[in-house]
Amino acid sequence: MTKPTEINQRRKIQQYNSWILFIKPIFKQMVWGGNRLESDFGYEIPNNHTGECWAVSALPNGDCQIYTKRGNSPYDGKFLSDLWRNQKEIFGGLPGDQFPLLLKIIDAKADLSIQVHPNDTFASIHEKGSLGKTECWYILECDEDAQIVVGHNARSKEEMTLMIEENRWEELICKKSIHSEDFFQIEPGTVHAIKAGTLILEIQQSSDITYRLYDYDRYEGGIKRELHIDKSIEVINCPSRELSDCRKLSRQQLNKGVFKEKLIRCLYYDVDRIVINGSYDFVQQEPFTILCVIKGEGMIDGISIKKGDFFILPYGYGEYAIAGTLEIIKVVS
Ligand code: ZN
Repeated sequence: MTKPTEINQRRKIQQYNSWILFIKPIFKQMVWGGNRLESDFGYEIPNNHTGECWAVSALPNGDCQIYTKRGNSPYDGKFLSDLWRNQKEIFGGLPGDQFPLLLKIIDAKADLSIQVHPNDTFASIHEKGSLGKTECWYILECDEDAQIVVGHNARSKEEMTLMIEENRWEELICKKSIHSEDFFQIEPGTVHAIKAGTLILEIQQSSDITYRLYDYDRYEGGIKRELHIDKSIEVINCPSRELSDCRKLSRQQLNKGVFKEKLIRCLYYDVDRIVINGSYDFVQQEPFTILCVIKGEGMIDGISIKKGDFFILPYGYGEYAIAGTLEIIKVVS
């Protein structure tokens, strides 16, 4: 006779890898935010200055909850940080005490501040053991003349310091025209800013460490936002590094109407774009897989999914069938 503990054990295993864990988004008000997270993505947003949708996050100031579309799961209402800490089997037993990734959709109605992030080494020394931040951007939609800030023109730290002191921002920063479906990898130490008229999917290391270099002298609630000039100058790569053309020409036809392309593979994440007009049977082979539906609608294993849905396939989920007319960004840690 099978012991009850063995039955429980088996049931537990069956449970965790048979559920699709959908993530409830969290919204953040920002001076530069707008309402496209509602008008474009159909989310219920708190107000017309909603700048960020934290689509997958386990940070203390925005810890997402799980829901399952089939109901009656042991995971409904649980926080992502809690699952990461206490049910590591879901994530293939990956090490680390913090969930490693943070995914956001950003609606920039106005320009975001010009900023830079430290790398892991600098952050662990100067920011109480925090992770640094490597991030990447997939342009979901943007105005015809939209731009981003990426890189700078100073040839030395002395020249940079002088340009900053003299407020010569237009001379210092580099701007680049963008189009929807563009992709950019932003390494630590890169001066960058998202500018007005863009809707971006941002995938990054789970860190909240941002050094603000310039904020257009804007006021928020009567005060200017804090700047971090000294730390910025310390971590900015000088001279600015060329932005590598990181979009790999890796389009792979999987099926009639179904293709996949690699956007980036780096130390922290591996990102693919998958376009489906029809159906395809995939296999989950990673410790865990995040899927983000960025266009259209369809079904995954009989569950309907649509633009704006973000979900995790746990370790050992196995085969999954997706059908419909949709675009998906797949992220693996
Ligand atoms: Zn950033």
